[in-house]
Amino acid sequence: MSSLRFKVVDEAFNRKADPVQIPSERPEKYYGRQVFNRQKMFEYLPADTFEALTSAIDNKQPLPRNVADSVAEGMKRWAIENGARHYTHWFQPLTETTAEKHDGFVEHDGKGGVVENFNGKLLVQQEPDASSFPNGGIRNTFEARGYSAWDISSPAFLLDNTLCIPTIFISYTGDSLDYKTPLLRALNSVDRAATAIARLFDPQVSHVTSYLGWEQEYFLVDEALYSARPDLMLTGRTLMGHESAKNQQLDDHYFGAIPSRVEAFMLDLEIECHKLGIPAKTRHNEVAPNQFELAPIFEETNLANDHNLLLMSIMGEVARRHHFRVLLHEKPFAGINGSGKHNNWSLGTDRGVLLFAPGKTAKDNLQFITFVVNVMAAVHRHNALLKASISSATNAHRLGANEAPPAIISIFTGSQLADILHRIESTSNSELTDLASKEGLQLNVSQIPEIMLDNTDRNRTSPFAFTGNRFEFRAVGSSANCASAMIALNAAVAEQLTEFKAAVDARIAQGETLRNALLEEIRRLIRSSRPIHFDGNGYSEEWKAEAAERGLDCETSVPRIFDAYLRPSSIEMFRSTGVMSEVELAARNEVKWEMYTKKVQIEARVLGDLALNHVLPVAIRYQSILLDNVAKIRNIFNSEKADSLSQGEIETIQQISTHCKAIKESVEQMVEARRQANHIPSEREKAIAYHDTVVPRMDTIRYHIDKLELMVDNEMWPLPKYRELLFIR
Ligand code: ADP
Ligand code: MG
Repeated sequence: MSSLRFKVVDEAFNRKADPVQIPSERPEKYYGRQVFNRQKMFEYLPADTFEALTSAIDNKQPLPRNVADSVAEGMKRWAIENGARHYTHWFQPLTETTAEKHDGFVEHDGKGGVVENFNGKLLVQQEPDASSFPNGGIRNTFEARGYSAWDISSPAFLLDNTLCIPTIFISYTGDSLDYKTPLLRALNSVDRAATAIARLFDPQVSHVTSYLGWEQEYFLVDEALYSARPDLMLTGRTLMGHESAKNQQLDDHYFGAIPSRVEAFMLDLEIECHKLGIPAKTRHNEVAPNQFELAPIFEETNLANDHNLLLMSIMGEVARRHHFRVLLHEKPFAGINGSGKHNNWSLGTDRGVLLFAPGKTAKDNLQFITFVVNVMAAVHRHNALLKASISSATNAHRLGANEAPPAIISIFTGSQLADILHRIESTSNSELTDLASKEGLQLNVSQIPEIMLDNTDRNRTSPFAFTGNRFEFRAVGSSANCASAMIALNAAVAEQLTEFKAAVDARIAQGETLRNALLEEIRRLIRSSRPIHFDGNGYSEEWKAEAAERGLDCETSVPRIFDAYLRPSSIEMFRSTGVMSEVELAARNEVKWEMYTKKVQIEARVLGDLALNHVLPVAIRYQSILLDNVAKIRNIFNSEKADSLSQGEIETIQQISTHCKAIKESVEQMVEARRQANHIPSEREKAIAYHDTVVPRMDTIRYHIDKLELMVDNEMWPLPKYRELLFIR
């Protein structure tokens, strides 16, 4: 009898919602309470320090060294008043989570006691002994020198009595060892490139900001059930488990009533978010049972990304308070939807214009079309790279599975935008000039606003969709650091805009008008990037064939997808935009391959163990009960009668043997495949070996285990089943 399983199921099903400590004040009172924001800066810093710091932030300048001590002093005073005892440089190593090393404020006072101290040097730069973070060989481990440096554009915050200072993390040689450094560089480069073009339309533009609004999907599982699933605990997903007879067929979970236990968790989480200045706004059930989503109001991309990482770490804590575990894995359960993190992305000028939003005048709309077409061209040119930017061992289970965007990047525009692009493309230059003189009316450029507003047909199957005033990069995984996608996208668009500007300038130098030059270049881009534009069903088999014909990247093996980072076109793009050098790219790919291997390796070990010591013993025990029964039948009945009576059982006995044998053999083959792969010195080749030889064996093992789950006496099955894991009440 599997008493543990029944005990945990009982515990989970009888759990009541936990009460939430709802603040007596309204959100506007406690919003940002744990953040050293402008209001706190104003309150805690001397006037000249405040001035110097905020002007450095606004003008994207480094913090002047001579004010660092004063900033640190004010920050410390605020932190200590609010209960902080430690501070940490909070950074984003290449492991997809955040890292922190806490130091106390206390120091010897020279009289046998301690004082609480914090100064500008400690605030601005540190050398955490972070030698064991993955660095792809950029940093020799024995040197172990990596620096973290304060990113003043992201405010410090208090978490669990610790002052957290968002920092970049770079090597002794200045190479990035994190996500934040290249993200900041990419945002700067897209600012420069987009500003140059926006100025063609409005000379007063001085900056263009990249905005990100992520939508975080996640699953919740009761903690008792979670603790009875070693695979969930160790890998974040179930490595086995037969589909529940009922899962999402009825679509009854999506936007359905939120269970009260979950609602309590969500409320608690939102309150924590608001205290940390994360503008959480939307919450709802997602498609799969036990799947939910949280989305904030969009923010500047670097800040939005910090907020997403912060959210992912506080989610876990808040979930525990409510006896839940949160699953951020892209595919925790086979057969039902996985979790993504749509990255809603746009560019906006400091004059308040969103560049992917249609405007009111023909000129506004020419600008709108200019930017949209350049995005399409950049995504087309770097479609393989963008796919690489969202690929991981975990997201691989989601991409290409039937609910998720396929492992092919394409852009959905919707019919109205498609129509406009088509008209521009198919109208000759001289006609366009005529049309332009009629205020572009027949081009419909000035009529875009009306038609765009009811652009409601949102194709959910597209990995990259235009949604009215922004693009939505939907292929990003739920556990990913959004920076990876945002680095590639912003940098690729920056490169494209820069080239576009040069081409337009060249035409103007030849005597063309600005409008003509723009339209010529726009038309050229519409034509050249036509293959990326696809409004059909991205989940269909026909699309895969068509995409290949169009020359889009269709590689599905994650380790090979990563090669896109090292294509000459990618290296050149990252170099010319100043985002990453070839050395950095190569080093980061080493890390990606290594991470891929490790993830699969851990899963393979866990699966092997569970197969051998959870599943096989139970299957064999059940089989021997059946054998016992057959023997007893033979004792009582004559052989002819006994044969007919036990026929069904004999079949089951044989099937169990077949599955057990297959499991045992596959585990042996998987172990052997791992052993061979582990001998391969190249990280790339090793990851490919894991992908090609270990993963298929895991699939086979799972197949047979899931068959056994249906045959073996329910009472004996040791692991909570999908139907028990997936339905919170
Ligand atoms: P849906 O699920 O329909 O895509 P949601 O409301 O869940 O929409 O999420 C939309 C997200 O897009 C929110 O985070 C929102 O703040 C963000 N968003 C809206 N407009 C923009 C924009 N111009 N740039 C970036 N993000 C945006
Ligand atoms: Mg969305």
